[in-house]
Amino acid sequence: MTVKSILATKGRDVATAAPDLSMQDLARALADRRIGAMIVTGGGGEVVGIVSERDVVRALARGGAAALAEPVSRHMTAKVVTCREDHTIVQVMELMTNGRFRHMPVTQDGKLVGVVSIGDIVKHRVAEMENEQKALKEYIASA
Ligand code: AMP
Repeated sequence: MTVKSILATKGRDVATAAPDLSMQDLARALADRRIGAMIVTGGGGEVVGIVSERDVVRALARGGAAALAEPVSRHMTAKVVTCREDHTIVQVMELMTNGRFRHMPVTQDGKLVGVVSIGDIVKHRVAEMENEQKALKEYIASA
């Protein structure tokens, strides 16, 4: 199963933020949309960073409430690991585990085409394993 099949189910809507959005507005957007991260994009729609709820907590721990007035560009991760639609679920799981993050933007020809979270990955991996198990059982029963 590939990232393409996840996007076919969940859709390609991506929550993005401009680099000058305040941390306060980012926190509000994360809470309103019930998501854990937003992709930071530049004027041309290119990915320039990612900012997650963990970055909000870190900013508050370091700077206190004053950090909420600062732009996301100050607290985002600028070196973003992305994947393509033809990446397998297992490949993305490995990238997320090694990088210790739970969100990954999907790009195609340099364009942002979706985002997958660890929740999407686990859900589809469980379904994939259930299908494999069912196929094995049917194979054994027919032998
Ligand atoms: P998360 O586990 O996704 O909430 O993110 C944990 C930390 O990793 C935060 O500092 C994020 O900015 C960063 N991060 C999240 N996703 C990515 C990614 N795809 N590439 C690089 N850093 C990321």
